[in-house]
Amino acid sequence: MQFKDLHLNKPILKAIIEKNYEKPTLIQEETIPLILNKQDVIASAQTGTGKTAAFALPILQLLFDKQEASKKGKKIRALIISPTRELAIQIDENFKNYGKYTNLRSTVVYGGASIEPQKEILKKGVDILIATPGRLLDLFKQNVINLANIETLVLDEADLMLDMGFIEDVLKIEKSCPKQKQILLFSATMPNKVVQLANTILNNPKMVDVTTSSVVTKNVYQTLYYVPKPKKIELCLHLLRNTIRGSVIIFRRTKFGVDKLEKALLKNNYNVDSIHGDKSQTDRQEALKSFKKGTVDILIATDVAARGIDVKNVDAVINFDLPNLPEIYVHRIGRTGRAGKEGVSYSFCSADEKSYVASIEKLIHNNIFVEENHPYPLDPKAKPEVHKKKGSKHKKGRKSEASKKKKKRWY
Ligand code: AMP
Repeated sequence: MQFKDLHLNKPILKAIIEKNYEKPTLIQEETIPLILNKQDVIASAQTGTGKTAAFALPILQLLFDKQEASKKGKKIRALIISPTRELAIQIDENFKNYGKYTNLRSTVVYGGASIEPQKEILKKGVDILIATPGRLLDLFKQNVINLANIETLVLDEADLMLDMGFIEDVLKIEKSCPKQKQILLFSATMPNKVVQLANTILNNPKMVDVTTSSVVTKNVYQTLYYVPKPKKIELCLHLLRNTIRGSVIIFRRTKFGVDKLEKALLKNNYNVDSIHGDKSQTDRQEALKSFKKGTVDILIATDVAARGIDVKNVDAVINFDLPNLPEIYVHRIGRTGRAGKEGVSYSFCSADEKSYVASIEKLIHNNIFVEENHPYPLDPKAKPEVHKKKGSKHKKGRKSEASKKKKKRWY
């Protein structure tokens, strides 16, 4: 299928040609006709599949087709809710790119930044608003935003939004929009609570699922290492020294784990930075910028902090901890091997993570190659380690003060 088969308008096609996209991705092929047909959609798709364009292109087209003559007093007609600032900013950049030859205007509002400049832009009028839930409700309460003209509401990364405790906010936002509207829900995983939310607010939605397909994983050469937990850092250093070349993202499950590994790699003179939820917005953006520019070769991240972040040309992904949900594995390794390029992934599995391998292999319909020839093999009979707490029970926890304060942002 070609983009022209999707019946998009000339100004939108022109922007796509400039981006050098040759043809629509699977999610775009399946979702764009449904959205143009004004249907509600639940789409299972993670970053890297082209999901942002899958909703941005048809939304631009629908708004473009129904533009009012007067340019003054633009009304917000499409609202995209995103759980994190980084994602929201990225979505806005996409709308601006794809809509550059239309006179449709978009803007982004998010917390953690001064509210006044955001109000100023909103006063000038926009057609498309991208927002994080809290800031959107703030502005709505202050009467700066009118949601009465919303025609399409997008909930992006719905699973993450619910994990971050935004369910009440999302329901409030949905209620503040007109009853008659199109709702598009995108989620990397489909746990029960996401399905329940969809059942509550969507109207006869069409399902699109591109997560389980091998599309994401087929360009990635995947290797699994069985290794005792305490030897993972050594194995990581061994691979960085001898095997891995280029830019690498290392995923860890916890912020504590990210910090610990960062310290170890810095000590070994690696050019490394990290992102997780306890880092300030500025620090996270700086880390990403350095990684994208190539001044830093290794980025260590928690899943949530890395969610949706669009970093191109990643040569390798290390799953330092195996994720407990197989979709997250697909999501992580999808960071490499994008757009027809080949990538590699290295996954470390300790005794207590063995059960995750089976569910990952089931999801990707493939067995992962096991590398047995390495210096830190796991005894096949090794039992999962029991984590004993050391020291007094009054000892300070490993959570930082910032993390305790920001209960909502648990990641
Ligand atoms: P997303 O899944 O929305 O985060 O998109 C991942 C990356 O794919 C972004 O850098 C997009 O610019 C790119 N992309 C989106 N659609 C296409 C396409 N049809 N062909 C090539 N690249 C694309």
